[in-house]
Amino acid sequence: MMNKQQAARELVEIGKRLYAKGMVAANDGNISIRLDERQILITPSGVSKGFMKAEEMVRLDSEGRVLSRFGQPSSEVYMHLEIYKNRTDINSICHAHPPYATAFAATGKTMRTDLLSEVAIALGEIPLVKFAVPGTPALAAALIPYLKEHVALLLANHGVVTLGESALQAYYRMETVEHAAKIQYLAQSLGQPLALSRQQLEQIKRAEKEKLIEDITRDILENLNSGKDE
Ligand SMILES: [Zn+2]
Repeated sequence: MMNKQQAARELVEIGKRLYAKGMVAANDGNISIRLDERQILITPSGVSKGFMKAEEMVRLDSEGRVLSRFGQPSSEVYMHLEIYKNRTDINSICHAHPPYATAFAATGKTMRTDLLSEVAIALGEIPLVKFAVPGTPALAAALIPYLKEHVALLLANHGVVTLGESALQAYYRMETVEHAAKIQYLAQSLGQPLALSRQQLEQIKRAEKEKLIEDITRDILENLNSGKDE
């Protein structure tokens, strides 16, 4: 189980970064962390993500009932609960309105995943979810078909939602989406962006897999060696 105080501190810190990076305006956006199988901690409604206090975070059960003594949860609580229900591997969700990525979502355009290796590796395809009114169960329902396969989604005429095993991973995915959207926008304004070929994308994925195996092997060897010294 994730410690509640630690989770609250992480939400505050990530809120500050979202705000400082211009990925939200006024009281936009919401972030949550799964505490255990039955509870989540979510940012409060009507508070700027740049000025939150740890004690303002709202604890909910998996049906959305408020367990904290006070505080009103974010209006996007349905979306968060639906994602956790569909993805037991996910422990944090980040929702924001970053300008470049949201501009794609506001023009009905999907982002390209064949321009940058970071996008190909960290995000994969970023689907565009059809419009539903923010803060309603309809928005949560519109997400369901995409949840199994994706960790980053554009919400039509609205914003972006990213999923992570940790709060930092969900936040970094938000940064990567926005950075990639900005680069694609700039590249297109310069001319015709050059796509990575299928072969290059396969090479990138293979190199990433090999690096992962190397890292795991090194960790195992280091653990074995440190065990010997004791
Ligand atoms: Zn929103």
